Amino acid sequence: MTPPDGAAPVAHRPVRTCVGCRRKRPSIELIRLSLRGDELVLGLTGGRGAWVCPDLGCFDAAVKKGGLTRALRRPVSAGAIEDARYAFVQGCPDVGG
Ligand SMILES: [Zn+2]
Repeated sequence: MTPPDGAAPVAHRPVRTCVGCRRKRPSIELIRLSLRGDELVLGLTGGRGAWVCPDLGCFDAAVKKGGLTRALRRPVSAGAIEDARYAFVQGCPDVGG
């Protein structure tokens, strides 16, 4: 799995930063959150998105540290966060919690 020396960035694998832990990962390994109206939704929907690892710790860190609202450039209601957190857990059976 080690890339060859001096390899160019691999095409079609855009890298995004998790707003929870600030680690850079390929976007395919991350979950995208965005606002639809006042609802926080998961997946590749339109609008400005925030990316988090499929890890509840990152989701919670993103909320607590304000990375989520910073990335979305909008405040997110506690109810919307709660709903999204539930969907996040459902959508990521391996995150636990
Ligand atoms: Zn993370």
